Amino acid sequence: MREYLKHYINGEWIESTGTETMDVINPATEEVAGRISLGTLEDLDRAVKAARAAFPAFSKTSKEERVQLLENIADEYEKRKDDFIDAITEELGSPRSMSEKVHYEMGLNHFRETARLLKDFSFTERRGGTLIEKEAIGVSGLITPWNFPTNQTSTKIASAFAAGSTVVLKPAEITPFAAVILAEVFDAAGVPKGVFNLVNGTGEVIGDGISAHPDIDFVSFTGSAAVGQRVMENAAKTIKKVALELGGKSPLIILEDADLKEAAKIAVSNVVMNTGQVCTAATRTLVPKSMHDDFIEAVKAVLPKFPVGDPNDKHFVGPLVSKKQWDRVQGYIQKGIDEGAELVVGGLGKPEGLETGYYVKPTVFTNVKNDMVIAQEEIFGPVMSIITYETLDEALEIANDTEYGLAGYIVGKDPEAIKKAASNIRAGQIRINKAPSDFSAPFGGYKKSGIGREWGDYGINEYLEVKAVLGMPS
Ligand code: NAD
Repeated sequence: MREYLKHYINGEWIESTGTETMDVINPATEEVAGRISLGTLEDLDRAVKAARAAFPAFSKTSKEERVQLLENIADEYEKRKDDFIDAITEELGSPRSMSEKVHYEMGLNHFRETARLLKDFSFTERRGGTLIEKEAIGVSGLITPWNFPTNQTSTKIASAFAAGSTVVLKPAEITPFAAVILAEVFDAAGVPKGVFNLVNGTGEVIGDGISAHPDIDFVSFTGSAAVGQRVMENAAKTIKKVALELGGKSPLIILEDADLKEAAKIAVSNVVMNTGQVCTAATRTLVPKSMHDDFIEAVKAVLPKFPVGDPNDKHFVGPLVSKKQWDRVQGYIQKGIDEGAELVVGGLGKPEGLETGYYVKPTVFTNVKNDMVIAQEEIFGPVMSIITYETLDEALEIANDTEYGLAGYIVGKDPEAIKKAASNIRAGQIRINKAPSDFSAPFGGYKKSGIGREWGDYGINEYLEVKAVLGMPS
């Protein structure tokens, strides 16, 4: 049982000024795995003051010093590999192999890649007599969700440190363990006092407190669209810059020349990864009408390769993160049935033999119409909606008929069709076939999927202000 009852402020673990605590539930066992203290606005104020006090010196450190700092962090992070894997498996229910290969690795990649890109990052540009300088934005408030406990925190923090900005982090209260380990990593790596501060707590108190705080210059939020909107409204009162990474309802277009077995593998693995709790999940699978029946057979054949079960055993799909999330996903499965979509596999209830834990059946619906609720709203569970199309133009129209625009996927061979689809899907990231992740590529959404970009040099730019100095002597 983990007891994380202190906040990390100004380089020290200090008692909360409040007395409220919250249990953290292991979603695979439904048992209490730990406890955190719920911070107060006074705790947040202390953290902001520490970040403000540290800002003048940290923002003037050299690029080389910050590259070294990020490399030290990556080295210390690697030393805590087993701790990260244990924590993420406990708090999120992520299968151990995924906790390692996805969650642990993503966090590490952000620190390493940001350090690499920072070496060549230019903070000044000369245009005749004018000098353009990029300067650290100031104190940055970071609010992160529960579905990737190391990825979202690490990308934001690596970019902030690269830019010379100081931070106050509020991780999701239902998965707070990995962020505590991250704070310990920063401590061991020699991050100067006050540069990184961690305040645990609820969204209503600490999250809201961050977006409203007059001494925070920038808020970077990842989470749901509804809360993102609230963050933006709140931040408007003090005219703070806001970056939002929100939800998605991403299309996966299977082209007519695609290998169906391969396409089914890509589509299924995408939708069950992290038990479907992925903002970029390809939840709408667009299939040529003529290939529909064969595709359904291919999906049925591939699904057993992704077994659901205890995250400590060799399973690919763990439980959902919470009872709340389980109820939400059940509600959407019921909605799909009520709307008249055809259930191919899965459905309501828990998989056989998995009565304890928030397990769901990976579910595939076909004959889905794009205006159905299950095709328009983000479910955040392993639920695939298959929609048929007759021409690529029709597929693109369906793909873009959504209020979101985070990602798009294309599976097939014809380079012309691939290029046409890639340039016409209105989304921030397009993945063709099995293209590997690129930690230097910008990540973020069009439309209601968000504002701004994270990862790599685009991520660093979010934490910078731009100054033009006219008539600067050379
Ligand atoms: P959420 O919006 O409920 O919570 C996200 C964070 O915001 C948490 O830390 C929460 O405590 C905090 N929060 C809650 N109320 C707040 C308030 N009033 N003010 C400020 N902060 C507040 O989302 P979630 O349930 O944690 O995560 C799931 C959602 O996040 C999904 O919609 C998913 O698509 C989205 N998401 C997006 C990305 C992305 O990069 N685009 C990544 C992961 C998750």
